[in-house]
Amino acid sequence: MKSSIAPTKMIKFVKFAGLTMVVSALLIAATLPTVSVANLPERQELPLPNVNNDAPIQKQTKPAPSNRPAGWVKHHIKIGKNESLGTALNSLKISANTTHNISTLKDGHLLTNLNVGDELVVWVDQNDTLQKILYPKTQLLSYELIKTDTGYSIDEKKSNVEIRTQTAYGTINNSFYVDAQNAGLSAKSIMSLSDLFGWDIDFSRELREGDTFKVIYETRYLKNQYIGDGDILAAQITTNNRQTRHNAFIQRDAKNQLIGYYNEEGKNLKKAFLRSPVDYVRITSKFNPKRFHPVLKEWRAHRGVDYGGPIGTPIRATGNGKVVFAGWGKGYGNHVKIQHAGKYLTLYGHLSKFGNFKQGSTIKQGDILGYLGQTGLATGPHLHYEFRINDVHVDPLNMKFPGDVPLDKKYHASFTKQAKFLLSQLDRTDAKTHLVQNFE
Ligand SMILES: [Zn+2]
Repeated sequence: MKSSIAPTKMIKFVKFAGLTMVVSALLIAATLPTVSVANLPERQELPLPNVNNDAPIQKQTKPAPSNRPAGWVKHHIKIGKNESLGTALNSLKISANTTHNISTLKDGHLLTNLNVGDELVVWVDQNDTLQKILYPKTQLLSYELIKTDTGYSIDEKKSNVEIRTQTAYGTINNSFYVDAQNAGLSAKSIMSLSDLFGWDIDFSRELREGDTFKVIYETRYLKNQYIGDGDILAAQITTNNRQTRHNAFIQRDAKNQLIGYYNEEGKNLKKAFLRSPVDYVRITSKFNPKRFHPVLKEWRAHRGVDYGGPIGTPIRATGNGKVVFAGWGKGYGNHVKIQHAGKYLTLYGHLSKFGNFKQGSTIKQGDILGYLGQTGLATGPHLHYEFRINDVHVDPLNMKFPGDVPLDKKYHASFTKQAKFLLSQLDRTDAKTHLVQNFE
């Protein structure tokens, strides 16, 4: 998708939830290879706020005055229940043959796959001949059908999206989700952050009051109107009372597609195992994790990690593997065991319900294997999580997990340069000044 970049420098001051954020449109793109729309890693669908930026528009903007021949009549049509392109054109006395011709075009499906509520602008001449259809699919994408000498052709029209960069800073007071929202981050960006740090940070057990987060991210504008967040370019979260800093820097390919996130040493943030099987960030909008303090028993005697939470909280497979057990066990209640590449095994106990995986099926990292419960020997609703290596229990919080594919060598030089620059910008981002300047 094309993007346009504002050539001028401009700084806006925005008051947000008591914080003064300096929103800088000084484009980081000036030093980064290119800019593009978000291309985020795939995620499990969960009951979340809608984070889709490309929702179809409700109101249609008026097309520019055209210099069409005078005899053409313009019609606005809204597709209703059980209606189609055929019924729409039929209502304008356009022949069924025309609809048929459109449906046989190579890209015909772009105009025939209509949904209830879609709006079309249709131009018809004096002879009831279809001349043109404009179909705004989303805010950013329209399809235009035009009559040609030999039939019809369909063109894709993309809107120019302007990418700006913005920074956010916050301190953990409540839960990561709430604090990130207060710092001005959208649901989409919060989820992206939780996904890209999900391999390193257990958001429920490692983030403590006073820890901080800083984010440099893209925002997308269409005709000066904010239409949503783009990619996160860089982020930093502290844990362990601000003693440990976790950095993330973006890398995109030549086609501007997201490759992944890497730390300042170029190590892939993606790991073979997620730090936590409970997706706390996604549920904190509905509950306060402080009221569900995990009961951490003595590690050696217990040989597992307990995660408190409301019954029904989705539990995710921390790594790719095979479900070697899904059933009842005396102490564990409903539990799932996953065998991961070779020596690793994870176990998830006291589940209220199983996910859609049968014993013997393969499961991917992040897939929902079941839901938090209180079955078996459990004093309260919680997940009992075990991590074993060659059947020896280890503490998953203190484990160094094997990393994913390292960054391709051809990106090393550009990544190092860009990461260094972004890190310097993160360092300059704090509660007082959200100024991101001199992106040169
Ligand atoms: Zn336990």
